[in-house]
Amino acid sequence: MITVVCRKCGYVFYKGTKVPNLYKIYASVGGRCPRCGREISWVPVDVKVKRRRK
Ligand SMILES: [Zn+2]
Repeated sequence: MITVVCRKCGYVFYKGTKVPNLYKIYASVGGRCPRCGREISWVPVDVKVKRRRK
C-alpha cells in the first residue's frame, strides 16, 4: 500500500497499490492541501510516500 499524505496535517492525497502520479494529484488539488491550505512543492520532501509490503 502506498500513501501520499500532507506532512503538515496528514491529509491523505492518495492511497492505493499503484505508484501514484504526483502531477495528477497536484493538479487535482490545485497545488494546495485541501485541508490545511499548505502549498505543495512536489519535490517529494513535503509528502511522505510510504510503501509497505504485505
Ligand atoms: Zn495539509
